[in-house]
Amino acid sequence: MTLTLIQQQRYARHIAMDAIGQHGQEILLSAKVAIVGMGGLGNPASMYLAAGGVGQLVIIDDDEVQLSNLQRQLLFKHSDIGLPKVVAAKRYLEELNPDSMVSAHQLRLDDVSAKQLFKLVDVVLDCTDNFQTRWAINKACHDLQKPLVWASTIGFSGQLGVATPYESDSHPCYGCFCGSMPNETDSPSCSDNGIIGSVAATMGAMQATEAIKQILSLPTNANKAIYRYDGLLGVSKYVALSKNPACEVCDATV
Ligand SMILES: [Zn+2]
Repeated sequence: MTLTLIQQQRYARHIAMDAIGQHGQEILLSAKVAIVGMGGLGNPASMYLAAGGVGQLVIIDDDEVQLSNLQRQLLFKHSDIGLPKVVAAKRYLEELNPDSMVSAHQLRLDDVSAKQLFKLVDVVLDCTDNFQTRWAINKACHDLQKPLVWASTIGFSGQLGVATPYESDSHPCYGCFCGSMPNETDSPSCSDNGIIGSVAATMGAMQATEAIKQILSLPTNANKAIYRYDGLLGVSKYVALSKNPACEVCDATV
């Protein structure tokens, strides 16, 4: 693939970077990323990946746009209320950058659909808000050996990790982090506890950064540590995490 003159202008700020350059941009244009969940995380993540020239995005969500989404999900306009999120998002993202082709799937992901949809992608982004789907994503990514960039956010806080457990015995999966699937009713939710839109945007944009780094084989700290952000105090840190020998997902490879 050779960049056209228009592409050289569009991606000039990427091409100027030693870490990307013209060759890196060509790799991004050939890349395919799956984004599960088009909420507060999936919105910014997909916007930055589309604008940055990731050639194919697979977006997955079973919800429709609601009024309460508009405080933080900036892909959606007031007139989108009632539309499937993936339909409104596909329209926005393809207008944002015609180089980025979007395949939209209005469904709630399970073990079978996760494996089907992730088979041909380079990176998977977990932008969901429920543990059942997170578990299916983690299992499929582990089995298919696909890098998984997960994030979660609530209130002023966010956390993020990059799961590549197949790469090294020192790289944990998402299941190593959680231990076992938490009870959904015991877990805090954004609808009950609230969320600052800009904090979700911070974490979603970081997922896009980590996805780009995975595509370009650039180094990350988030494959053996959890990144934690506290927007109230304005501080962030990495907390070391190792593989959990009792993990139900990656025990076979330890
Ligand atoms: Zn694990």
